[in-house]
Amino acid sequence: MKRHAIIPIFIPHRGCPNDCVFCNQRKITASSGPVTKEEVREKIDLWLSTLTDRPGLETVEIAFYGGSFTGIPVEEQNDFLTIAKEYKDRGLVQKIHLSTRPDYIDEMILNNLKRFSVDVIELGVQSFDEDVLKASRRGHDAAVVERSAKMIKERGFTLGIQLMIGLPGDSYESCITSAVKTTELKPDIARLYPTVIIRDTELYDMWERGEHRPPEQEEIVRRTAHMYRILTRAGINVIRVGLKRSDLINDAVDAAGGTYHPAVRQLVCGYLARETLEQQLAEIRKRSDCRRISFYANGRSMSDMIGWQGENKTYFKETYPQLSLRFEKDDSLADDQYVCREKE
Ligand code: SF4
Repeated sequence: MKRHAIIPIFIPHRGCPNDCVFCNQRKITASSGPVTKEEVREKIDLWLSTLTDRPGLETVEIAFYGGSFTGIPVEEQNDFLTIAKEYKDRGLVQKIHLSTRPDYIDEMILNNLKRFSVDVIELGVQSFDEDVLKASRRGHDAAVVERSAKMIKERGFTLGIQLMIGLPGDSYESCITSAVKTTELKPDIARLYPTVIIRDTELYDMWERGEHRPPEQEEIVRRTAHMYRILTRAGINVIRVGLKRSDLINDAVDAAGGTYHPAVRQLVCGYLARETLEQQLAEIRKRSDCRRISFYANGRSMSDMIGWQGENKTYFKETYPQLSLRFEKDDSLADDQYVCREKE
């Protein structure tokens, strides 16, 4: 049972002056009305009614997602934060969480968020590479990320960093650099989002015109997996990998160029398991011509070892047809620990 629940409240950034190539908020907000205080209350009450009897639940967060929370007019921010704080003060939720752009953080904004007992601030950083930021028309540079992240941490908020993979102009190297720079800012949490090309975005038009070709899925998984490893090894909790279909706001949204996959986290964790086992297998084969090999993981990590839809099993069987391979459980191993052993 999950000990942590999030009540997601989508607050679109109406009138956002920015023009990020991957974003369809302008189109969405042009066709939908503003979110009202009543709607926010109704949503929180509805979620809370489904959570009351959940055994083992320790923390409930109200999370304002969407565009850039601190970019909307301060009166609107305060209206929503007043409601969230009321639920927090009544002990019905434990944390208030929001996401925003790195350049919508300053002293006044943070003081205001403190007034309403906000706990977690996530920055939509996307990349630390200046060329990628420009090509994606983010409208800010990497220096502002460092400044904002520092201010957020200094004031005692929990810091989150969101990165995207497969933006125009990015590469394996720029993705790895972004992950390393993220570790230097010491955030508590991170999210990794392979870029999904959705309709009604500039990126979609670029894709249609042939100006943007997304990397193949295998390459996206490789980049994301290595970023995931860098972040988790630095002690950062990667709370999400890949968009959920419901994150795409509109179920009718088509993802172009094969850029949406419903189970990116499984692909990424499966990739890392395969890479680890293959390295160990190579070591064993250097010193022995043993034909009988077993791969081990604990019960919780078995599915990642086997891979999404069994793809690791298929991969190893096709790549090493001369070997007799078994995938076995060993509960003495830690989560995400994979071991390759030769059999007598
Ligand atoms: S991603 Fe955020 S900042 Fe960029 S255009 Fe969309 S709403 Fe505006």
